[in-house]
Amino acid sequence: MDSMYQELILDHYKHPHGRGLREGDAEVHHVNPTCGDEITLRVKYDGETLTDVSYEGQGCSISQASASVLNELLVGKELAEARKIQEVFLELMQSKGKLEPTEEMEEVLEDAVAFAGVSKYPARVKCALLSWMAWKDATAQALGGAERETV
Ligand code: ZN
Repeated sequence: MDSMYQELILDHYKHPHGRGLREGDAEVHHVNPTCGDEITLRVKYDGETLTDVSYEGQGCSISQASASVLNELLVGKELAEARKIQEVFLELMQSKGKLEPTEEMEEVLEDAVAFAGVSKYPARVKCALLSWMAWKDATAQALGGAERETV
C-alpha cells in the first residue's frame, strides 16, 4: 500500500474524528465477522442536513479509520451530497485495485482516497465499508419511509 495513504489511515486510527456516541435520530450496530470489527453508529439529521455522525467501535485500523474519515467527510453535508460521496467511495472500494483515483474522485473523497489500496484485498474491503454501510442503514432508519423508497 502507498505509504502516504498508509500514514493517513493510521493518523485517523490514532486520532479519530468525532468518536463517541452523542444524541441521534437512529442507532445501528454493524459487525464484520471476517475481521471482528464492530461499530455502533448514530446519525442526527436536521431536515436533509446530516448534522452529526457519532460512533463507537473496535477492530482493525482500517475499520476504525474509515469511521473517522466518514465523520469528517459527511457531517454538515446535505443528504444528496453525502449519498453521492458514499457512492463514489463504494465504486472505489469495489474496484479491486484497478481504479486509479482521478482528480475528481480525490476532490470528492478527500482523505477517503487513502483506502484505494485497500480495494485490492477483498477481506479488507469489508473493514473499510463497515461504517459506510452502517451510515446508510442508520440514515434509512432515521428518515423513515420516504427514504427507504429511494434506497
Ligand atoms: Zn477489519
